[in-house]
Amino acid sequence: MGWLGLDDTDHIGGGCTTHTLFELIQQLPKKYVVSSQRLVRLYPFAKQRTRGNAAVAVRIEGDDYTDLLLHLDYWWNEKIAPLKGKLTQSKQYPRPQSPTDPGMVWFESQPDEATYWKCVREEVSINDIAIADKSWGGHGRIGATAAISWPAKEYTYEAISWRTTDSVKSGGQRKVDLSRIAELDSGLDTFMSRDLRSNSVLISPRGNCPVLFGIRARTESTAINACNYLIESKFTEAVDGHMVFKTNQATDDHLGDDMRCFVDEIQIKKRGTVKIRCTDGMNLMAFAESGDLKNLAQWLKKDDEISYNGLLSSDRTIHLERLKILSSTPDRVRPKCENCGVTMKSMGANQDIRCPKCKIRMADSWQELPREPPYSGWVQPPNDSMRHLSKPINWN
Ligand SMILES: [Zn+2]
Repeated sequence: MGWLGLDDTDHIGGGCTTHTLFELIQQLPKKYVVSSQRLVRLYPFAKQRTRGNAAVAVRIEGDDYTDLLLHLDYWWNEKIAPLKGKLTQSKQYPRPQSPTDPGMVWFESQPDEATYWKCVREEVSINDIAIADKSWGGHGRIGATAAISWPAKEYTYEAISWRTTDSVKSGGQRKVDLSRIAELDSGLDTFMSRDLRSNSVLISPRGNCPVLFGIRARTESTAINACNYLIESKFTEAVDGHMVFKTNQATDDHLGDDMRCFVDEIQIKKRGTVKIRCTDGMNLMAFAESGDLKNLAQWLKKDDEISYNGLLSSDRTIHLERLKILSSTPDRVRPKCENCGVTMKSMGANQDIRCPKCKIRMADSWQELPREPPYSGWVQPPNDSMRHLSKPINWN
């Protein structure tokens, strides 16, 4: 019959678009069949983005089209429209927050994928998107339309479970079986559940949102099994329900082709952040929290050839998401003294070089020492500072 999309109902202080959709589906008259639950992450630098920057959509089948739209009207007015204008500022989130501006759209058939590609790669206004057969609300219509227009040629899954209303109200700490979480990503074929370096759990959000946890996996059955495995433990709190979404996470959909350049100069800034200036004029940033990527960037020298990918920020630098050395320029050093092995020293411009110990002289010359890169292939930030959209490099 058609597709329903939803976005921009969550803010730091509470709410979550996935839960808003879950409740809508729960209360939909049983004569309608819901399928193809999907969650898409959108352009990470979008100005008016919500916390998770995710929009959701589902397919709805049934006979009574008029009745469905009446129900959606009712649901919008009663449950979703009142979420507009919520805003919480938090010290945990330095980025300025926009007030929620929920949007919901209905398409009788899936619009072409152009809207999705725009919304995942660039700043989009409400005039740039496919026109829905029916729409409700404001800015959230953009993400809602993008979620429906996603062609899902490449995808992963996320199984999300929500806390009970009482737990959300009490604001107490989330309880999820930690020993079972420790099995994820190794025994079970899930990904981005933990960060081994910082020992942090990545499946549960912070703050007062209804999500208990979300498990990312490459197959639907893995996502469901891992989700049930956590829910069934007596060390996990009771849940309101759970649902599996097909997602564009870990697809690299937000990125264009890999690029290459020669390094002109690097500058090491506060906390080890590196700015790489390329000979073609491009400026690349490797941020302090990007781990191996930052380490590799610090190692670079003039004339090294690199391959990279990342997003162009409003400050006209590319924020690196992966980096690889293609070739490194050798270090130039003075030769060693044939007699004693001490490194020869220059005596001045256009003069011989001389051993500082036994004073033997040689014609002015250099030796080239190859530099061995600390990493041979691609490097990317650790799990806890990777974007949801970024594909792990070991998948290629
Ligand atoms: Zn010597």
